Amino acid sequence: MSFKSLGLSEPLLKAISKKGHTTPSTIQEKAIPFILEGKDILASAQTGTGKTAAFALPMLQVLSGGETLRKRPVRALILTPTRELAAQVMEEVKDYSSFLDLRSHVIFGGVNAAPQIRALRQGVDILVATPGRLLDLHQQKAFSLANIEILVLDEADRMLDMGFLRDIKKILALMPAQRQNLLFSATFSKDIKQFANTFLKHPVMVEAAPQNTAAEKVDQKVYKTNKSKKTALITKLISDGNWEQVLVFTRTKHGANRLSQKLEKSGITSAAIHGNKSQGARTKALAGFKKGNLRVLVATDIAARGLDIPLLPHVINYELPNVPEDYVHRIGRTGRAGASGQAISLVSVDENEHVRGIEKLLGESLEKEILDGFEPTENLQEVLQKKADNKAQHRGGGRKSASSKTRSGFNRRRN
Ligand code: AMP
Repeated sequence: MSFKSLGLSEPLLKAISKKGHTTPSTIQEKAIPFILEGKDILASAQTGTGKTAAFALPMLQVLSGGETLRKRPVRALILTPTRELAAQVMEEVKDYSSFLDLRSHVIFGGVNAAPQIRALRQGVDILVATPGRLLDLHQQKAFSLANIEILVLDEADRMLDMGFLRDIKKILALMPAQRQNLLFSATFSKDIKQFANTFLKHPVMVEAAPQNTAAEKVDQKVYKTNKSKKTALITKLISDGNWEQVLVFTRTKHGANRLSQKLEKSGITSAAIHGNKSQGARTKALAGFKKGNLRVLVATDIAARGLDIPLLPHVINYELPNVPEDYVHRIGRTGRAGASGQAISLVSVDENEHVRGIEKLLGESLEKEILDGFEPTENLQEVLQKKADNKAQHRGGGRKSASSKTRSGFNRRRN
């Protein structure tokens, strides 16, 4: 792999070779093509992996391809937690832009603001800044963020640790909604993921670290609940988490259709794909999902087998498969290509035996959680009886079995 094959332009290649870099690092190889495509990025990379160049190079290329406005309003903002990092990033940006007509500047606290204000008033294309000083000088009207095309948050985990969340939120509000966001972080805590979900749009997840085994990379969790509460629970998880691009597995084609329709009714765009759908309908659904027009794709195991989806942040098992190996296939849809992902299973009492089978196969126990308002209260016998009734009803062409008639109160509650 060469820098040229990543799609970088001549002036950048010249600057790279002047720096003495010959081959792209892993994070550069993974992130640069997506950033050039204009995608949002959620990158896991530590210092020393070449992460700065991974965002700086494609950012410079995107900016140099655009229009240079006479007044040079800030078009790209790189936020860093510390002055040291800001200065370091600035140096790299300057090095890589030495053959381009782009101006960059760095601002941080603890030094006299006057020279920074003067430089900003002359116009800069790329601004590297720490959050506090940025807000300070923005208040003094030293620059505007109304023309931001690209935002980079470098070492986002450290920024949150240092208490910059409020400042960052304020800064986000000063920028146009239509922009490219690149988030780099050494670690991915729950807080970081939650924060990233609030402003990244259909991010591609990239990771510098070598690939782990599927089970290590995928954050797996079981939510115990009632069968009848699963739809409400899945809707809540997707809505509250602001999740985009969620692949949901159901056991049956009918189940896939039903769930997809219910999600749509709750305002979550969704489509079902399964063996009864034409190839055209499946291709269309998949394309909509990849483009981000559909948030949720509900699939059966068989339909999902040939799916070509490069990276998925979330996989949800609406129902667990009978065969533990299918579970491993399903969760293999997330955390692929070195990205981290989350696999969630909604488990009712009758599926506990499937959980045990999966845990045996994986050689580890799955984390279990119960959410308030979604407590599992069903009794195993009751659920099994209902399942048998449904089956009988299905076979009998809609006729109710004796036991389901006697349980009509239960059925009514469910509808
Ligand atoms: P970073 O992870 O961005 O802090 O970069 C660490 C160091 O690696 C910096 O000194 C970079 O100049 C250098 N570097 C970045 N990309 C490459 C590369 N592809 N090959 C060799 N060194 C690199």
